[in-house]
Amino acid sequence: MTEKIKGIAASNGIAIAKAYKLVQPQLDIEKIAIQNSEQEINRLNTAIQTSSEELEHIKEQARTELGEDKAAIFAAHLLVLRDPELIQPVQDKIKQEQVNAEYALHETASQFIQMFEQMDNEYMKERAADIRDVTKRVVGHLLGVEIPNPSLLTEEVIIVTDDLTPSDTAQLNRKYVKGFTTDIGGRTSHSAIMARSMEIPAVVGTKTVTADIQTGDLLIVDGLDGFVFINPSDEIIHTYHQKLSDYNEKKAIWAALKDQKTVSGDGHVVELAANIGTPEDVRGVLDNGGEGVGLYRTEFLYMGRDQLPTEEEQYTAYKKVLESMGGKPVVVRTLDIGGDKELPYLHLPKEMNPFLGYRAIRLCLEEQDIFRTQLRALLRASTQGNLKIMFPMIATIEEFIQAKSILLEEKSILQSSGIEVSDQIEIGMMVEIPSSAILADQFAKEVDFFSIGTNDLIQYTLAADRMNERVSYLYQPYHPAILRLINMVIEAAHREGKWVGMCGEMAGDQMAIPILLGLGLDEFSMSASSILPARSLIKNLSKAKLESLKGEILSKSTAEEVLEVVKKLINP
Ligand code: PEP
Ligand code: MG
Repeated sequence: MTEKIKGIAASNGIAIAKAYKLVQPQLDIEKIAIQNSEQEINRLNTAIQTSSEELEHIKEQARTELGEDKAAIFAAHLLVLRDPELIQPVQDKIKQEQVNAEYALHETASQFIQMFEQMDNEYMKERAADIRDVTKRVVGHLLGVEIPNPSLLTEEVIIVTDDLTPSDTAQLNRKYVKGFTTDIGGRTSHSAIMARSMEIPAVVGTKTVTADIQTGDLLIVDGLDGFVFINPSDEIIHTYHQKLSDYNEKKAIWAALKDQKTVSGDGHVVELAANIGTPEDVRGVLDNGGEGVGLYRTEFLYMGRDQLPTEEEQYTAYKKVLESMGGKPVVVRTLDIGGDKELPYLHLPKEMNPFLGYRAIRLCLEEQDIFRTQLRALLRASTQGNLKIMFPMIATIEEFIQAKSILLEEKSILQSSGIEVSDQIEIGMMVEIPSSAILADQFAKEVDFFSIGTNDLIQYTLAADRMNERVSYLYQPYHPAILRLINMVIEAAHREGKWVGMCGEMAGDQMAIPILLGLGLDEFSMSASSILPARSLIKNLSKAKLESLKGEILSKSTAEEVLEVVKKLINP
C-alpha cells in the first residue's frame, strides 16, 4: 500500500525515482580471540584491497564530476591505506595478541588518531580525520556492513537521510540525484537552500523517512506541496506525471519574462537577484532572468575539502562569477562559517549554541589571516565586474567599522604594490541580528547598503531555531515584529539615501513579496528558481496600493491577521 508522508516543501519540483538511503550504519567492533592469525591477516588484506579499489573508483569519479580538489581528499585516503606504518602494527597485533582483524585495526588506528589530534599541527590533524574515514571503510568490509557512498551512484535516485550537511549537499551528483528527503531540518536549513539553487526537489523535516523507507523503494518527492509517497500506485504516479507537466507549463509561461525588467502594475521598478553558493550556480541565475547576484555565500568554497582555499583559488572563483554575470551587480558575502555550516579542518571547539557562537564576522575579525586572504582575492577580482562586498552577522557598529577598515587597509596595500582594484566597490552589511535592525539609523550612516537576512533575523527575533522542526510554528516570517524590524531598516536606509535588499528566503515568498513591495524594499534576492514567479506576481501588483496598506499591516498583532490582509489583496 502506498504510504504518504508530510514534510516541509523545501525545493520546488517533483522527482520520481528509487530511494537511496544515506544513513551511516553502526559499526560494532568486538574483541574476538582467533586461532589462525595467517587467515586473519588475509582477511585484513582482502578488506584493504577492496577498500583501495573502491577509493580509486571514487577518486576518479570525483576528479571528473567535482574537480581536482575533491579528488585530492580520496588520494589522501589511499595513501593512508598503503601506509606500512599503520598497516604493519595492525598485522603485528593480530599475530602477537591472536585477535580479530577489525579489533586490531580499530585499536591501532585509534592510537594514531589520538596522537595526531593532539599535535599542534594542522596537517597532522587532517591526517587523523583521514585515518578515521579509511578505518571505517575497511572495518565496514570486514564486518560485511555496507557503508553508503553517494559518489558511487550510477543510476537516478532520491536520497533519503536523517539530515544532510551543507558539505554533503555540495557533493551531490546532480546527474544522478533527482531529489532528496530528510527527517530533520527546515526551509531555511542550508541543505534546503542549496537544493533550491541546484534546482533539486526536496522535502525536509518529515521526522520519519529514514524509518519508513528502504533503499530501492520507488518514491515521489513533491517539493511543491511537501509530500513523499512510498511505492505509489499507478494512479498516484499518473496524477504526479500530470502535476509535473502542469508545473512545466507554468514554467514555460514564466520563461517569457526572462529578459524583462521587474516592474509593478503601476510602474515601480525593483531588482530581482539570486542567491548563489558556487560559481556553477550562475548559469541558473542567468537562465532564470536574474538581474544580479544578491548573495554569494562564499563559505561553500571552504567546504567539502580538508584545508582552506588559497587566495588564488578564491580569486579564480570570484572572477568567474563576476565575469559570467557580465557587469550585473554581484553582492559577495564574506565567510559566514558556523551554525550549521562547519569547517572540520578549523578544529573549532564544540559549542552549546553554535548559532549564537563564534562564527561569521566574529571569527573573521579574530582569525584575520583567513579574512584578509579572502578580502585580497575579492579586491583583485573587483576589476572583472560589478562587485559589492557585505559582512555577515554584524551585531555592533564597531564590528562593521573594523571589518571595513581591514578591507580598506588590504585595498591600499594592494594598490601600493601596483595591483589594480576597482574604486566602485560598495561596502554593506547583512541585517540579520535584531540589534542591527534596531540601530539601523546609525548603521545607515556607515554602510553603502543593507541586505536583510531574514533566515537568521526571524530565528533570533522569535528565539526559534531555524533548523528545528519542533519549533517551526514559531518561525514566522509574517509576524508583525519581523515586519516592523524590516520597515525600520528600510526607512532608516532610505533616509540616508542608501538602498536595501533582502537575501533571506522571505524575499522569494509569494505571500511576503506584496508586503515587502509595500514597505519599499529595493532588491529581492532569492533562489534562482523563484525569480520568474516573483516577476510574474509583481507585474500584477500596485505598489501605491500596497504602500497605503502599510500602516494597517504593521498595526496587526499576529502573523495570521497580516496574512488575511495580504490574501484579500491577492484574491479580492
Ligand atoms: C539569512 O540569514 O537570511 C541569510 C541570507 O544568510 P544564511 O541563510 O546563509 O544564514
Ligand atoms: Mg544568516
